[in-house]
Amino acid sequence: MALVLPGDEQLVTPFTFYTMSQCRPCNLDIKGNGSRSNFEHGFPGLECIHCAGPSSRKFFYRSADILAGNYAHIPNHLLSCAAAPASLKTTLTELKQRHQTQKHHLHKGDQKSFFQNIWNRLHQESNEDETMGEVGQVAEI
Ligand SMILES: [Zn+2]
Repeated sequence: MALVLPGDEQLVTPFTFYTMSQCRPCNLDIKGNGSRSNFEHGFPGLECIHCAGPSSRKFFYRSADILAGNYAHIPNHLLSCAAAPASLKTTLTELKQRHQTQKHHLHKGDQKSFFQNIWNRLHQESNEDETMGEVGQVAEI
């Protein structure tokens, strides 16, 4: 399953699109770590495609809005990921420098749609309940 599709590219800056292109879907595999207990086993999340494997970096968000507001964890990881190529880090750094300016040219609501699309693809197969809490909205492993 592709998380981002070519049609999504116009909705966000190249920085955001490139970042999310470096992720693939995953599911939470709880191994007794208390910090993850706010997310149930099998909860859909995002995984870095470069260090993918048993010790990959994974990202979990409680809602599409929280994903949109906190996805910066992902480029921060990519820039320090030991498995990601140097060329990726160079590209990401360059795109990030232009991101703040380009962001002002997006149409209102477009970025929200982009992350909602990703969210819908991640969660299309699962029927989790939508209860929201004040804590445990984001988990980074
Ligand atoms: Zn990684």
